[in-house]
Amino acid sequence: MFKYQPENVLEKKYPQNPYPKGAIRWPVLLFLILTPIAAATVVPWYGFTHGYDMFEWVMFFVFMMFTGMSITAGYHRLWSHKTYQSHWLPRLFYAIGGAGALQNSIVHWSSDHRKHHTHVDDNELDPYSAKRGFWYSHMGWIYKNEAAGREDFSNVRDLLHDPIVAWQHKYYTWITVIFNIGLPVLIGYLHGDVWGTFLLAGLLRLVLNHHFTFAINSLAHIWGGQNYDRTTTARDNGFLALFTYGEGYHNYHHRFQYDYRNGHIWYHYDPAKWLIKSLSMVGMAKNLKKVSDLQIEQARIKTEYQRLLEEPHAVKLSEELRHRLDQAYQTCVKALEEYIEARKQWLQSKRRAADTDKSLTKNLKARAQALRSEFLEQRRQWRSILAELSYAPAAA
Ligand SMILES: [Zn+2]
Ligand SMILES: [Zn+2]
Repeated sequence: MFKYQPENVLEKKYPQNPYPKGAIRWPVLLFLILTPIAAATVVPWYGFTHGYDMFEWVMFFVFMMFTGMSITAGYHRLWSHKTYQSHWLPRLFYAIGGAGALQNSIVHWSSDHRKHHTHVDDNELDPYSAKRGFWYSHMGWIYKNEAAGREDFSNVRDLLHDPIVAWQHKYYTWITVIFNIGLPVLIGYLHGDVWGTFLLAGLLRLVLNHHFTFAINSLAHIWGGQNYDRTTTARDNGFLALFTYGEGYHNYHHRFQYDYRNGHIWYHYDPAKWLIKSLSMVGMAKNLKKVSDLQIEQARIKTEYQRLLEEPHAVKLSEELRHRLDQAYQTCVKALEEYIEARKQWLQSKRRAADTDKSLTKNLKARAQALRSEFLEQRRQWRSILAELSYAPAAA
């Protein structure tokens, strides 16, 4: 019988990391090499010799979504970043599917991920720093032992209040074995083709899901735009989002990690965002955290300004143009700040409406609307200066 003792869970499971710093964890490395080789050879070979039927492909897709969404909506957005609160039922699914994805326990994964955000791009403290190169951030960090001595999970103690997290950490190995071998084999047996089901829903799914997740640490820190922040290597990439359950908008995510969405615009492909929203509609999730559109706009304008200054020809801008650029930027940012403040005051007053003067709320609303128009005008001017500067001749 599982007895819930949060603090003991960690101590028992990770007494001591036996490898010296920098050593290669051979069992992990062999697993990470052999599974893709097997998937690239045995899966097609079985396809040519026996063939796969529709049921097996459906199982592949179901297992793919189950494990992928458990990592994205569960490990990442629920536990690592606490962007919403969830009913125990989805949490249980995430815990099982996440273990099935074979990416460590929730505790371990979230601890690494929180370090990644706090120390992003720091080669010592970011566990998968993109500055150590593509290969290291993709999978080198998994088989190279950098955390010598005791694993430090002190940054995820808050998660231990969740009995599901503690349960999953304790029985992690068992859950992974049952999910990756037991379940596909059982389904395959009932379906009448053990190997076909196991190869697609077990092996191929595991390997693809691994590398799709790994790509967020490697490719999403190399390839794509920096729309909200230029201080980190994180990139926005709508194409990568298609394979990563919506995690491709990684520049946005690093700037606003407490947002339950990664693709913040409604048409951004982000199935994890849609899942969380749907769960909230049926009462299975609540307190979804979201950054306001105006805050996003602030980050955007600041980034546009910084990008322009970093472009090679910007250094050579004439005094006059540089002055106009700075002026337009400052005015636009100030107008936005004033609008945000006025809007806040109006909404506060509206909330208290029952016991306050209605005309005050009306005045505050009119003021907020006027400041909104002013901001939109300043933004229009800012954009036109941006367009002009993109073609501006360099000063002599
Ligand atoms: Zn990242
Ligand atoms: Zn994150």
